[in-house]
Amino acid sequence: MEAALASWQAELPIQRVASPNQAQVRLWRRKPPLGPGADGALRASHGRALLELRQVQRLGQWQLEPQVEVVISPGQRPEAIQATSLHELGHAFGLWGHSDDSGDAMAVSPNAKPVLDLSARDRATLRWLLLQPGLGP
Ligand SMILES: [Zn+2]
Repeated sequence: MEAALASWQAELPIQRVASPNQAQVRLWRRKPPLGPGADGALRASHGRALLELRQVQRLGQWQLEPQVEVVISPGQRPEAIQATSLHELGHAFGLWGHSDDSGDAMAVSPNAKPVLDLSARDRATLRWLLLQPGLGP
């Protein structure tokens, strides 16, 4: 998980906070809830990013803020945990879509060989996202 976070940290200003209550993205090591697969049926997965909007107080002001719970299943090989974390953190940081190229961290289905770092395409997608009005750091 730390290695996956470091990959994203090279591309994004990520600030780690002491209290989970202050965080916009929280990482959990536990079995993810069942969710819809490609065919719409409920199935298990190695990781999941769950988005919700919450009312939070920032600098004395109440505002709606997206919060993401990233849930990573502990029952995997270390490289698989890293690849799953890299992928799910990508969702948490705004890349909600999937790539059809299995060499990308954001590939729709996990590669036989785990993707342990961001591809040039993952980075390009993130840069494009950050250029959208109101989304930059
Ligand atoms: Zn995904």
